Amino acid sequence: MSRRPLLAGNWKMYLTSGEAVRLAQAIAAISREHTDRDVMVAPSFTSLAAVAAELRNSAVLLGAQNVAWEQEGAYTGEISPRMLTDLGVRMAIIGHSERRHIFGEDNVMVNQRLLAALDAGLVPVLCIGETLDERQAEATFKVLETQLCEGLENVPPARAEQVVLAYEPVWAIGTGKTATPQQAQEVHHFLRQLLAGLYDKKIAETVRVLYGGSVKPDNIDELMAQPDIDGALVGGAALNPDSFARIVHFT
Ligand code: PEP
Repeated sequence: MSRRPLLAGNWKMYLTSGEAVRLAQAIAAISREHTDRDVMVAPSFTSLAAVAAELRNSAVLLGAQNVAWEQEGAYTGEISPRMLTDLGVRMAIIGHSERRHIFGEDNVMVNQRLLAALDAGLVPVLCIGETLDERQAEATFKVLETQLCEGLENVPPARAEQVVLAYEPVWAIGTGKTATPQQAQEVHHFLRQLLAGLYDKKIAETVRVLYGGSVKPDNIDELMAQPDIDGALVGGAALNPDSFARIVHFT
């Protein structure tokens, strides 16, 4: 089965609204060169409305970097799925390692956010990944299994196939250290086997699994050549239009 590639940029806490709009404009032009792949950008919440307006006539998908687990309520500082869809946001990154490790988000919160996102019609990008200590202790597969199973708890099959997974080894994020394409492929294949066990083979073959962790112009082609890597979630290299262009233009 062929899955549509997805190249996603996580702009983290960089860029003012004006800067974000300029980058979005450049990325809209880049994405116009391809009809066989999806491109997503996730600006800060404060730039979403302006970037949404800039992308109005573009196929570039708008993503959020997180999402609350309730549609409304007394949750100071949170942004609800309903608020995001109202702006034209289509996807939401959930469980990014910076949320897990800096802000203490656990698998239960991640699961609640994911369920709320699906309820509102947002496509969740569920991030999972092991730390360096966990990899060195040979706990990678166990950690990923827990993150995946708990993250997808109570997600019915019909919705599971809409979820995008992102394997992001924590030791590779923003460090310049990339998992080798073989290391990433081994994990992606394992995740697909887990999905087949949790759901069925068809769903496992449908779900897109992105790799994230120091993806750059010089490693994207080799990563994308792996059979179970369906795209990339890109941090640093997504902030520069030339490097993100090269990533989107992977061959
Ligand atoms: C990320 O933030 O999801 C990420 C993978 O960052 P970087 O590409 O900078 O490692």
